[in-house]
Amino acid sequence: AAKAKGRDTIALYDHAMDHAARERREIETDLREAVARDQLNIHYQPVIDLDSGQVSGYEALLRWYHPQRGVVRPDDFLGVAEETGMIVPIGEWVIRKALEETSRWSGDFRIAINLSPTQVRSPHLVDVVARAIHAYGIRPARVEFEITEHVLMQKSNVCVGNLEKLRELGAKIALDDFGVGYSSLSYLRRFPFDRIKIDKDFVEGIETCSDNKAIVSSITRLAEALGMAATAEGVETRGQLDLLRELGCQEAQGYLICEPVPGENFATADAVEAAMKADASGILDYRK
Ligand code: C2E
Ligand code: MG
Ligand code: MG
Ligand code: MG
Repeated sequence: AAKAKGRDTIALYDHAMDHAARERREIETDLREAVARDQLNIHYQPVIDLDSGQVSGYEALLRWYHPQRGVVRPDDFLGVAEETGMIVPIGEWVIRKALEETSRWSGDFRIAINLSPTQVRSPHLVDVVARAIHAYGIRPARVEFEITEHVLMQKSNVCVGNLEKLRELGAKIALDDFGVGYSSLSYLRRFPFDRIKIDKDFVEGIETCSDNKAIVSSITRLAEALGMAATAEGVETRGQLDLLRELGCQEAQGYLICEPVPGENFATADAVEAAMKADASGILDYRK
């Protein structure tokens, strides 16, 4: 009986593996078409300065407008894109598109672009960035790349080399999802980041959990001591926003302020204001 049960378990397991494998292949095929058929788009989420209430930048977030599945978020296809290497052309498209699109908006804001490990390893990355910055006439210091510690976990030295070259171009580098990784602290020594982005996992509980509050407070002070800026991610309540400001965190982003919005909507300054829920709920009433 035990043997039969074992076989059943294996059969089930095989079945599940099969399903997962089929799903991945389907995503891969669809994703190739997505690129060719122009189904990728970028949504932008404003980041605000907690002192002034002004928008200090926008984070570019990739979206896939799938003909059957609707809007697919990156977590559902980045794994496949990363494994197949498709992330490299897709990521290059994101860099060009984000810089091209935002170059038409008025104001002196930062543009944050996420980079995956495979992208940072790519020998063409720096060249693609340099060309796009030049083509769209963007001041390099306005461009910030967000990486997670996974980038620095790679054995190759190419990654740090490429990050240094991006820095030499004048771009900034931020450490994303800080705190949720394996040994985030040690990665702060591997590269002199310009910014730490405090993961939403910690922000979520700051009002109710004194441990989370202590952690966010410490990360904020650590960033300051290291000469890095701190941005809190995933701010969803007014209470979190007020507390973050009290703790000395400089910037925040999250659904409370504004959800990621398609680039087309940002064509006019009015649309930006309209997209910011902040004004409606009085969050930015201290804005100058
Ligand atoms: P991330 O860089 O940490 O981006 C923050 C994620 O949190 C985004 O998810 C954003 O939509 C979401 N978010 C923002 N505010 C809130 C909030 O108040 N509450 C909650 N629960 N979530 C919030 P998204 O857009 O699904 O992106 C997921 C991840 O995919 C990103 O995490 C980033 O690592 C990656 N990603 C996104 N776009 C790109 C891209 O163009 N290239 C690469 N390589 N990775 C990307
Ligand atoms: Mg990010
Ligand atoms: Mg993050
Ligand atoms: Mg993330």
